[in-house]
Amino acid sequence: LSSEYPVEVDLPAPEELKASYDVVIIGAGGHGLATAYYLSKYHGITNIAVLEKGYLGGGNTARNTAVIRSNYLTSEGVKFYIESVRMFENLSNEFDFNIMYSGRGQLTLAHTDATVRAFRQRAEVNKHFGGRTEMIDRQQIRELVPSLNLDPGQIPVLAGLWHIDGGTARHDAVAWGYAKGAAKRGVEIHQLTEVQDFVVEGDRIRAVKTNRGTIQCGCVVQAVAGTSSLLMNKLNIKAPIHTYPLQAMVTQPFKPFLDPLVSSSALHCYVQQTSRGEIVFGGGSDPYPLYNTRSTLDLKESLLASAVEMFPFMANAKLMRQWAGITDMTPDYSPIMGLSPIDGYYLDAGWGTWGFKATPICGKTMAELVASGGKVPELIAPFGLDRFSRFQQVNEMGATAASH
Ligand code: FAD
Repeated sequence: LSSEYPVEVDLPAPEELKASYDVVIIGAGGHGLATAYYLSKYHGITNIAVLEKGYLGGGNTARNTAVIRSNYLTSEGVKFYIESVRMFENLSNEFDFNIMYSGRGQLTLAHTDATVRAFRQRAEVNKHFGGRTEMIDRQQIRELVPSLNLDPGQIPVLAGLWHIDGGTARHDAVAWGYAKGAAKRGVEIHQLTEVQDFVVEGDRIRAVKTNRGTIQCGCVVQAVAGTSSLLMNKLNIKAPIHTYPLQAMVTQPFKPFLDPLVSSSALHCYVQQTSRGEIVFGGGSDPYPLYNTRSTLDLKESLLASAVEMFPFMANAKLMRQWAGITDMTPDYSPIMGLSPIDGYYLDAGWGTWGFKATPICGKTMAELVASGGKVPELIAPFGLDRFSRFQQVNEMGATAASH
């Protein structure tokens, strides 16, 4: 923990694995822990094991750039993410634990007429469902972010999509808050416990096989982000998930100069300043599929070039850290949530580069799904795996890209 964040996170000592649980959740990232939290707090289900092959919150939950927003394109997406942003706003109160939520707004830059048209549509859809998003012109952008270069290279900024509800939160604290709340109610969180295989009888899941033995279970929630396709393969569940690394990096600290999050779809780069003064930036996924969390020089060079176009003074900034996560991308840039072809095996997958912001609403809706024995909540019904065979994709590609 940094000295800026002197909070102790008390979790009970790990228990022995029991032979059986009502619910097994695979993955102690934000999504798995949130599901355990809402199940235990709001549905009275506490005989739960969260199994984590590494350490709590050490997957993409620890690696993301913490962008929270709801300015998507489809009505299905906007309704879902708006609910999540609302939950984020109250999460510190819910936990009685500071997740450092900062609702400072997100600005996305349009460099072409086509993007301006698409942004108008996003602003209207967002407003229709109660979000706060509007189009702003160059002068308003200049006032909002005085240090931004409005004429980068050959692609001047034409307008901006100003999403007042955009923000960030400390991602580790979100995982810790959910873990503390779930553990307090009796949920067992077992780190260094990898699910390696399954026992299925007929069409029903019966047990998971781990490096610490076989565990019987009433049902299973899969919330493993980057390795979703690997576990689904073991159960022969077919899903159009492709797996790519996504990198991000952070500079030395600077005096505060940037309040909103700023993102450019044409430069494929987004920039934000943390409360410690560091500048975080990221972009799109690596251009080839891989299950690996290494960083590469070519990505750093191209991303830095874009960041310097946006904020020329950053040419002198020193990089302090870089990292990557493994992302499970779907063709329509929407998640895969809900039922699977195996009875009692529930999916929270396909979270790609955009799933941190959905952590609270995923936990809440996945808990409702489990507690009801498989009744899919209306909010996540559009994201079912079967949408790909019904040709009913929820296309958020244009609203995701480099903004996450
Ligand atoms: P994770 O946090 O990855 O948790 C899954 C856990 O499952 C891991 O801890 C893993 O160790 C464990 N696991 C895997 N396999 C097994 C197994 N077989 N047995 C037991 N445990 C297993 N999203 C946003 O909304 N905003 C952003 O700004 C943003 N930026 C991002 C930037 C980067 C660089 C990256 C990599 C991602 C970004 N994302 C962003 C995406 C976001 O981080 C993820 O979608 C989200 O964190 C997924 O949460 P999760 O709990 O499902 O997964």
